[in-house]
Amino acid sequence: MKYYLGLDVGGTNLAAGIVDENCNLLHKESIPAGAGRSVEEITSDMAKVSKSVVKHLGLPMSKISFWGIGMPSYVNPQTGLLVHANCFGWKNLDIYSYLQKHSSLPIYIENDANCAALGEVLAGAGKGYHDVLMLTLGTGLGGGIILNKKIYAGADMMGAELGHTKLCYHGSSCTCGQLGCAEAYCSATALIRQAKEALQGNESSVMYELCGKNPEQLNAKMVVDAYKMGDQVAQNVFLQYVDYLSCAMSSFIVIFRPEIIILGGGVSNVGDTLLLPLKKKVMENTYAADVIGVPEIRLAECGNDAGIIGAAMLEKYGMDRKKNGVS
Ligand SMILES: [Zn+2]
Repeated sequence: MKYYLGLDVGGTNLAAGIVDENCNLLHKESIPAGAGRSVEEITSDMAKVSKSVVKHLGLPMSKISFWGIGMPSYVNPQTGLLVHANCFGWKNLDIYSYLQKHSSLPIYIENDANCAALGEVLAGAGKGYHDVLMLTLGTGLGGGIILNKKIYAGADMMGAELGHTKLCYHGSSCTCGQLGCAEAYCSATALIRQAKEALQGNESSVMYELCGKNPEQLNAKMVVDAYKMGDQVAQNVFLQYVDYLSCAMSSFIVIFRPEIIILGGGVSNVGDTLLLPLKKKVMENTYAADVIGVPEIRLAECGNDAGIIGAAMLEKYGMDRKKNGVS
């Protein structure tokens, strides 16, 4: 049996795991990321938690041939530098030189959303499929494209930022500095912002009670709860959010025609409350859907484990970044 080591690096936690060749996650451990600390400290902890999972299973390091890492950033294949990890404030960072102080294994860093998509295809809702899109409806709008069971990230290997495709000409401000990105309309953060705007002058809404009369405390679950209770303001907000999301998805469908689209992240936790109106809207908003249909839309199954599994399996299913000079 072969074993694979994966590390999912997020702004909150560093989560490492060992995956067997059948994509089963055998063991995982997580420690706080401790954002705000030095690069030395954080990369040292990345190595520490990764070595700890290997040790826990009693595996000799010789059984591990590769260290796959999912990061909230890309590595530029031309320069080998980590482009921009917002949560750590790292920009153009030679992260390999830090990591190589702790490990002699070949290291492969991939964008975390791409890892999550790969994890879902190998071990979750996308099992058995080859061409899959995944969207994560969380703080941002994460996107991953799997084509023929491999991560697709474009010619320079720095795609697929589905969340930063443009949904609206000169529209709402996005965290990336651009205007009108899908993320500014379809993330959980966007849903909350839309609800806060709708609450202005609408204090009779159930949402106002649910947030303790303090809109700053409003979260996505409160919006959905109010929607389910039949609150008119929440209905307008949530169904408009669904419409935005369906429009973004319709563009992705027309371009890629994937077999399925997987939805993960906080907003997807409401299940059918989201899926049922979303499927209807995707049918309405997608080119030629009445003739050729639309891909199946499913909820993610691996939760936070998807990122670890995807990172671990980069050796087998990632792209060959080595050919671009990145080891
Ligand atoms: Zn953007």
